[in-house]
Amino acid sequence: MPIYPQNLHTHGTFCDGRHEYEDTVKHAIKLGFNAIGFSGHSYTSFDLEPCMTLENTVLYKKRISELKEKYNGIIDIFCGIEFDVFSEDDPTDYDYVIGDAHYIKKENEYLVIDYSDPNALAEIIDKHYGGDGLQCAKDYYETMTLVTKLSKCDIVGHFDLITKHCEKHNLIDTDSKIYKDYALQSITAIAEKIKVFEINVGAIARGYRLTPYPAPFILKRVKELGCGVVISSDCHDISYLDTNFDVGIDLAKSCGFNEVLILTKDGFKGIKI
Ligand SMILES: [Zn+2]
Ligand SMILES: [Zn+2]
Repeated sequence: MPIYPQNLHTHGTFCDGRHEYEDTVKHAIKLGFNAIGFSGHSYTSFDLEPCMTLENTVLYKKRISELKEKYNGIIDIFCGIEFDVFSEDDPTDYDYVIGDAHYIKKENEYLVIDYSDPNALAEIIDKHYGGDGLQCAKDYYETMTLVTKLSKCDIVGHFDLITKHCEKHNLIDTDSKIYKDYALQSITAIAEKIKVFEINVGAIARGYRLTPYPAPFILKRVKELGCGVVISSDCHDISYLDTNFDVGIDLAKSCGFNEVLILTKDGFKGIKI
């Protein structure tokens, strides 16, 4: 029995994932998962490199629906979407929605804050915030709060993505009270509407971080606010489909959770940890 029996945050070949969707399904079955969820990057016209085009979005839904039929009775398959707050797709057309933010909009420009290169965020902070990382964090968390405006959002994804490179590079003072206040204000506003948050361990296997998103002080507030958590590896390569799930479970426990959520055909359900 796997330590956590599903992954709702997975990417495939219609966006920036490496593998065809059926390869992911087969690997999930091999791992003993009870379900697998796909979460292609939603159509976002100004950044088509990682995201699905409108044409591919149609093909994506068709492909997942074929797989649902083929593997019916063997594993539950969900057609979800990773929906950026600036996306132009319709979030209501999916089994579930992971809502999150990969950009900050500044003077009509979309600034990508999810680059692999830490220098990209350093440049944004220099060029647009006069070197003030905290102001950048403020704009990012205000952007994250926009998930509450989506017509459907079931899971809040990688809540503190802005800290992707902050463990290894001194870009934002994430220990400061002012930083923590920006994050906590956002989480408090979001939790009034959305009750499930993601513990995302994906950046560890990719070598960007040693710890999952979000930081413990955020996760403790998520718990205090009565919300639940799912574990994901933000999988772009099936070799990492369940990698570091144990780290995610340990983080949940250390922040006071005694159960984590899994998605079933009847909605979210808690499992003891
Ligand atoms: Zn993402
Ligand atoms: Zn993702």
